[in-house]
Amino acid sequence: MNFWVEELSLLKEEGLHRELKRLESSQSPRVIIDNQEVIMLASNNYLGLSTRKEIKEEVIQVIEEYGTGSGGSRLTTGNYDLHEELESKLANFKETEAALVFNTGYMANLGVLTTVVGAEDVIICDKLNHASIIDGCRLSKAKLLVYKHGDLERLEMILKRSSKYRKKLIVTDGVFSMDGDLAPLPEIVELAKKYQALVMVDDAHGTGVLGKKGSGIVEYFDLKGKIDIQLGTLSKALGSEGGFVAGSKELIDLLRNKARAFIYSTALAPATIGASLASLNYLQSHPELIKKLWRNIKLLKDGLEDLGYDLLPSNSAIIPIMIGDTEKTMKLSKSLVEEGVLAPGIRPPTVPRGMSRIRVTVMASHSSEDIEEALDIFARAGREVGLIR
Ligand code: PMP
Repeated sequence: MNFWVEELSLLKEEGLHRELKRLESSQSPRVIIDNQEVIMLASNNYLGLSTRKEIKEEVIQVIEEYGTGSGGSRLTTGNYDLHEELESKLANFKETEAALVFNTGYMANLGVLTTVVGAEDVIICDKLNHASIIDGCRLSKAKLLVYKHGDLERLEMILKRSSKYRKKLIVTDGVFSMDGDLAPLPEIVELAKKYQALVMVDDAHGTGVLGKKGSGIVEYFDLKGKIDIQLGTLSKALGSEGGFVAGSKELIDLLRNKARAFIYSTALAPATIGASLASLNYLQSHPELIKKLWRNIKLLKDGLEDLGYDLLPSNSAIIPIMIGDTEKTMKLSKSLVEEGVLAPGIRPPTVPRGMSRIRVTVMASHSSEDIEEALDIFARAGREVGLIR
C-alpha cells in the first residue's frame, strides 16, 4: 500500500490539497504570477521595503564586501560585525537591553520556548497562536494549556489553577496572523503580575506596523519594560528574512548558550543581515511609511465594507474577509486571481473548520489607483461567486 497516495487523496477529497503558485517578480504592488500580472494583496512586505532601491543598493555593497554564505554557525565562524550591529539596533528599536537573531521567526519561537521552560513548567497560550509557538511549546516538554482566543476570564481561571508549576509563561501573538486583531496585552500583563507569570509576545506582524515608531505592540500599548520576552521577525514589514528575540541581557545570554535552533544552524548570510540593517535604518529615518501603510489599510477596509464584505475586526495590515465555507472561499480566491488580484483563501487546518476566509494584506507601496482597481475586481469577483450583491 502506498501511504502517501492514500493520504494525498484524503486531502484532495476534503478540498484541502495545496499547490504552490510560482511568482516571477519581486514583492511589488503588482506581480507576475503564472505568467499573469496581478495586484499583490497577499504579501507580508507591509512597508514595501523588500523592493526599495536604496536598500537593494546597500545589500549589493554588503555582498561585494562579505560574499554570499556566512560559513558557519554564530558560535563557530559565522558571527560577523553585521550580526552584532543588527542585534544592538534591534534591542534599541524594541527598547530592551539585548536581542538575538535567529534564522527564521519559526526557529526563534522554537529556540526561545525550548530554552526558557521545561517539564516542570506550564505555558498558557491563546488558542489562535501561530503554529511555530505551538511547535515550540510541544518541543519544550512543558505542560501546554490553551485559553479561548482573547478570553481573559479563561486565562485567569487557568492561572489560578497553575500554582503547582515551577514557572508559568503566558504566550500570545501580538497581532494574530490569520485574524489581524491584537492581543489584549495590557490586561495580560496585569494578570501576569497578579499570578507571578512571565509574558512572551510574538510580534511578527506588529513589528514595523504598530506604534508611531513602528516598534510594535509594546510601543502601541505603552508597555515598555513590562514584557519578559519579545519576539519579532525580519521577514515581514522589515522585508528581509530572520527572526529575533529581544529582552534582558541575561535572557539573551542564556539563549546564546542553550537555544539549539541558534547553536546548531548556520548563521544568516551577510546579505540577509545587511538587508535587515538597511531596512531598519530606512524605517527609522522614514516613519512616514507607517502613516502611508495605515492610510492604505483604511482605504481598502472601507472599500471592502462598502461592497458588502464581512470583515473580521482587525487592527493591522491583515484584513480577513470572512466567508466560512471552504469551497466558496477557494472559488472567490480563484476568481480574484483570474480578474487580477492575488488574495489567498485560508482554510483548515490553518483556521478552524467553517471559518475559511480570504486573507488580504496591504502594503505602504500600493498606490491609491492599485487599491481602487483591486476594489473593482473584488466587486466583480464577489458578484460572480454570489457572495455580494
Ligand atoms: N510568528 C507569527 C505570528 C507568524 O505569523 C510567523 C510567520 N507567518 C512566524 C512567527 C514565523 O516567522 P518566519 O516566517 O520568519 O519563520
